[in-house]
Amino acid sequence: MAIGDVTKLHAPEPVRHTKPPAGPEALEHMQLREGEFWREIPAYQNVDEPTFLDHGWQYRNSVKTVDELANTVQGLVTPQFLEDLRTGFHRAPMNVRVSPYAIALIDWANPYDDPIRTQFIPLASRLLPDHPKLTLDSLHEQDDAPIPGLTHRYVDKALFLPTNVCPVYCRFCTRSYAIGGDTDVVEKAELATDPKRWQQAFDYIASRPELQDIVISGGDTYQLPAKSLKKIGDALLDIPNVRRMRFATKGPAILPSKILTDHAWTDELCSIVDRGRSMGKDVVLHTHFNSPNEITWITAKAMQLLFERGVFVRNQSVLIRGVNDDKETMRLLVRRMGYLNVHAYYVYMHDMVKGVEDLRTTIQTALDIEKFVRGSTAGFNTPTFVCDAPGGGGKRDVHSFDYYDRENGIAVYTAPSVKPGESFVYFDPIDQLSTEAQRRWKDSATQEAMIADALAKVR
Ligand code: SF4
Repeated sequence: MAIGDVTKLHAPEPVRHTKPPAGPEALEHMQLREGEFWREIPAYQNVDEPTFLDHGWQYRNSVKTVDELANTVQGLVTPQFLEDLRTGFHRAPMNVRVSPYAIALIDWANPYDDPIRTQFIPLASRLLPDHPKLTLDSLHEQDDAPIPGLTHRYVDKALFLPTNVCPVYCRFCTRSYAIGGDTDVVEKAELATDPKRWQQAFDYIASRPELQDIVISGGDTYQLPAKSLKKIGDALLDIPNVRRMRFATKGPAILPSKILTDHAWTDELCSIVDRGRSMGKDVVLHTHFNSPNEITWITAKAMQLLFERGVFVRNQSVLIRGVNDDKETMRLLVRRMGYLNVHAYYVYMHDMVKGVEDLRTTIQTALDIEKFVRGSTAGFNTPTFVCDAPGGGGKRDVHSFDYYDRENGIAVYTAPSVKPGESFVYFDPIDQLSTEAQRRWKDSATQEAMIADALAKVR
């Protein structure tokens, strides 16, 4: 071809593929548990729908002891299981409190493997020794707290903990150092509801113009009476530098009917959201679904009510062994939340928390699941998998490790915008490592050498 000749390019004739119809697994997220499923539990056999949905009834009938649980599910579990429970309760760092809604969703024919039982009800036979590098407040929230219950780690964001009680106590709670009452194995830090402490937190936030984003967590926002919700909402909205607020609660996952029946609470939340919107401030609800089994027709109704009233809901899950640490379960959870207009925001690596080593997974597990889930639904409904770096490094994208020794289960993260120059180490659970690596972790000098070697790779 001579220089100067013009070649006309033709778009290739498209090969039109017809996407084959999706299989049943692509529709499973829409199949929610229906009907009066609670009547399968002996203690709820005669409970009608209005009673079961009533949040007051749910609170009054929450299970807190082994005897209460035994009376509730009488005949469904073996004496050996109850004995396992009794020892598990005794050795747990968290109190136990489980709503009838959650009790009714547990498969009592196979409670050992049930994802809801696994989250809330400890069994001694499943416990593993803690990782040798575990500390009680592994995220160092108290170290970064200028006021008790107000953690200021990121430049523009603070975490406010107005209360230390929750509608359920999760075995895996990061804040087992403070949440719920003392247990046989942990004496808790004091974070009880205290208006004076709240005012100190509001004054601090107002004194720091860089603070624009406040997370109100806990403890759990569900446990705040409507008038406290209003007090916190108004106080924070009135601070000029506060632009965004998130009320965090596990509630929709274990007691969704409160949104339908506690009108004072729901109305107050909606009015804070509305007032925020009128001021150009973003107020949302953050919740915490971990298992697709937690989502039923009751959840769908509650989420629809919030959606209609303009409350945006985001979710933060924890990656938990035996709950959601397989690809299909996580995909189902993500799709099911999307179906209810709940945006999947984060999946956290399980924090290094005392007494729950059996619930943790490896960083590699998170990488594999993330790869599988991404692409199965829209990007805005796909969670980012993060590791909240032990020692106060903050949330890091799980892929962003500076070094990962898969053999010995040591991942090193850095956080240049949070704590420049520092390194943070996350450890995989030892029982998931090779036999040889497990042997190495038995010796404290070898432990230190492995960690030093991983840190040296980063420096
Ligand atoms: S609801 Fe949240 S704060 Fe309360 S025990 Fe569960 S994880 Fe911890």
